[in-house]
Amino acid sequence: MTDNVVSGNNFLRTIVTEDIASGRLSGELVTRFPPEPNGFLHIGHAKSICLNFGLAEQFGGRCHLRFDDTNPAKEEQAYIDAIQEDIRWLGFEWSGPIRYASDYFDTLFEYAVHLIRNGNAYVCDLSADEAREYRGTLTEPGKNSPYRERSVEENLALFSDMKEGVFDEGHCVLRAKIDMAAPNINLRDPIIYRIRKVSHHQTADKWCIYPTYDFTHGQSDALEGITHSICTLEFEDHRPLYEWFIANLPVPAQPKQYEFARLNVNYTVTSKRKLKMLVDEKVVDGWDDPRMPTIAGMRRRGFTPASLKRFCEMVGVARSEGVVDVAMLEHAIRDDLDKNAPRAMCVMEPLKIVITNYPSEKVEWLTAPGHPNRDDLAERSLPFSREVFIERDDFREEANKKFKRLVLGKKVRLRNAYVLLAESVVKDADGNVVEVHCTYDDASHGADPADGVKPKGVIHWVSASHGKRATVRLYDRLFSHESPDRGGEEFLDHVNPDSLRVLEGCWIEPSLADALPEASFQFERTGYFVADRVEHRSDAPVFNRSIALRDTWNGGQ
Ligand code: ATP
Ligand code: MG
Repeated sequence: MTDNVVSGNNFLRTIVTEDIASGRLSGELVTRFPPEPNGFLHIGHAKSICLNFGLAEQFGGRCHLRFDDTNPAKEEQAYIDAIQEDIRWLGFEWSGPIRYASDYFDTLFEYAVHLIRNGNAYVCDLSADEAREYRGTLTEPGKNSPYRERSVEENLALFSDMKEGVFDEGHCVLRAKIDMAAPNINLRDPIIYRIRKVSHHQTADKWCIYPTYDFTHGQSDALEGITHSICTLEFEDHRPLYEWFIANLPVPAQPKQYEFARLNVNYTVTSKRKLKMLVDEKVVDGWDDPRMPTIAGMRRRGFTPASLKRFCEMVGVARSEGVVDVAMLEHAIRDDLDKNAPRAMCVMEPLKIVITNYPSEKVEWLTAPGHPNRDDLAERSLPFSREVFIERDDFREEANKKFKRLVLGKKVRLRNAYVLLAESVVKDADGNVVEVHCTYDDASHGADPADGVKPKGVIHWVSASHGKRATVRLYDRLFSHESPDRGGEEFLDHVNPDSLRVLEGCWIEPSLADALPEASFQFERTGYFVADRVEHRSDAPVFNRSIALRDTWNGGQ
């Protein structure tokens, strides 16, 4: 991966800089982000967004949002809405109105007529199977369709009949007349219009013929005055066709296509089709499930726009395919949250501590820093009382010296509070510890214990009489296989069975209940968490784990 990355100055920035220097780009740089509204955007789209909007920003140009909506059967308004929300959340704004390729259907129809008039397109009645046979292979040239020499008049009449709904779906298509022997199969008389008797989310029932992606994309670019049409490498072989259309149509501008390598991330699936399967098969709870690599999912997971942009910048722009380690994404998230998320305490698997020498009615409000090195983040007030919760894991009746938490007969410090000494335990009928009775040292808040014996460890806690109950969802990677995206449907077999653990009975420090949805915190000692943007309420708090404190993958705890 690193070989292809020109950090700070990726090859597209270089191309634009050179185009300005040579005068090819005399006006504004105009880019576009062209999603098909057939699913939610994913991490790969985030990269394309950062690239297109980022270039426009850097060079004082503009970036359009254009929905590439040539396949109405798979497209939906819900996706159109979600895509806009995602782009804005990332912090970008498109120039001018939202555009749709379907805005240009009238012009595209005229362009098709123009090609027919010039003898550059014809109506072909070959069936799909026949057309495949005629197309040839990578090593053998194709054969001309028997319909290739229809007259201009006949083609105009047939194309008009196609538009008027005279023929059934599949009866015929309109093809560009280029070269059936071209080594590049994309130039072997590609289809430019198909009959599809489906209603369209933008144009309703106006059309029963739809232009193909290849016939639509470049012309839409030209109509919008796009100067640099940036797409992924799989379109490299389509570039000659893109250029052929531009050269043979009366388009108002001459856009140029540039390709870069799509972003692939290990342990991650980045194909809308496969992501849709995860949703449809209910492997996840929707497109915005916090385990999904969708922008909406990552947002709900507590990833931040700044960290996603940082990640996209870090991976750079390559010209050949590579796979980026998901640990790099996780690093970007962790780094951002470490710097910016206020600290807080949450006990996930509670064990009750009774401080026998602390008066039962007494409550103290102790102060704790909002962040270890951010003075601008407000200090917090922590209620302290006779009964507190600690993690069940943080107590043992007996332990060796490596265990630096609470042990019977030993001391531990409660974070931002006092030192406790464990005196005795209360057990249930099955012998499980249900309470630990401790004494506290009144002089030990912010100071060494009076007897000079320092505790070895510091643990987090929440006052049992003031804490709030919360649901905490622990998310982990959705796939346990490094390359779930390889191959076909079997990616579903690689779903990590432990990608979600829900803990209902957690205790949080009281102020956390009032956290706004989407506020992020570091729960001390346990990780980074976000108040769920959909379900969190002050009377029923819900927090999602964004990322662990350290990389605990492969049990490396
Ligand atoms: P998918 O294969 O997930 O369906 P797509 O390419 O069909 O993706 P589009 O909606 O057509 O999805 O993509 C919009 C833009 O985002 C295109 O310019 C496309 O090249 C770019 N894009 C899609 N996936 C990636 C990726 N993994 N990395 C970088 N750019 C991507
Ligand atoms: Mg696509």
